[in-house]
Amino acid sequence: MEYRIEIRRIRDLLDDKKYLTNINMQRKYIYSHEQAKFLLDSIQKKIPIPAIYLWDNCNDTYDVIDGKQRITVMRLYNNPNYFPGLHYNFFIDHMETAEFENYEVPVIVCKGVYEEKIATFKRINTTAVALKEFEIYNALYQGSFVEELGNWGATLSPIEELFFGKSMRGENCIKALKLYTENVEDYIRHNRNQSFVNGLKGKIDTLLNITLKIFGDYKTDYYILAKIVLENIGNEPLIKSWVLNKEKIISLFNLYNNNGELKIAPSKESFYKEILNCYNCTGLDSRRFFTPETKQNLYINLKNGFTKGKKICPCCNKEFSFNEFEIDHIIPWSRGGKTSNNNAQLLCKSCNSSKSNK
Ligand SMILES: [Zn+2]
Repeated sequence: MEYRIEIRRIRDLLDDKKYLTNINMQRKYIYSHEQAKFLLDSIQKKIPIPAIYLWDNCNDTYDVIDGKQRITVMRLYNNPNYFPGLHYNFFIDHMETAEFENYEVPVIVCKGVYEEKIATFKRINTTAVALKEFEIYNALYQGSFVEELGNWGATLSPIEELFFGKSMRGENCIKALKLYTENVEDYIRHNRNQSFVNGLKGKIDTLLNITLKIFGDYKTDYYILAKIVLENIGNEPLIKSWVLNKEKIISLFNLYNNNGELKIAPSKESFYKEILNCYNCTGLDSRRFFTPETKQNLYINLKNGFTKGKKICPCCNKEFSFNEFEIDHIIPWSRGGKTSNNNAQLLCKSCNSSKSNK
């Protein structure tokens, strides 16, 4: 259903707090002064503005699917806290308030089953000015969980910011959740009516405290280190040994940072994991990671596959391309194997990971 609705009527709907039920749950107001001015200018010049999408919940309420930013401008244009100076510079000079409020905004009302609402919302909001992941969940799964989580993310302490970053439209909230779940959307949906403050937040606080207690002097990569701590939280002897040897560990981190080893590691996470699992072994090769040139040389010497540009994995005999191979220490580095050409072989990713899990 498509029709036009006066700005005045949108404001009435909002003030009732009954019809547009999710308007305060969507993303915070993020328009710049210029964007707001541009919209108001279009209205004044009677240039068509994009339609606002509402979802008919079929119980006399509507959710805003798209248009929150525009609605906010129309609602608050004469509030000097939101648009300092704009009201006086613009409306008094150029347009009568009554004329503005009579302006008709195109509105498209959609309805359907719940799954269609979710699909429509995601589609519309990822094509225009893309919503951030958190903002999408915030609108779709309203409840105590996202509300408390969003407030937490917006008011992180400086220490918490070292782990999760500043509040950038909820990105830090997503980062925090990703420590605890692979599927953030499912997690939020299942916990939508739970309390974040009285639940997950306690676990996060504990995790940050432990991580800082061990790695507080290292001053970087706290998020990755927290992730590793969390994965090993049940392994008390290991955690204790980290606490006990923290100076030694941090000096090792710094050493590898300075001699370039960290840079050639496959990932920061694997680098830290390697060091943390093995720091107390003796006689290890001080070089842990192979160079890209070594990988090139090993690749050239592999048997060609049937498909052009692919080579055969010596372990599973399947074909893979260059990027799908990884260098393996034939004698594991953690057991004293050298990082040298005669202790190196290429394996496909899955063979390599099943070997290192043994
Ligand atoms: Zn393989």
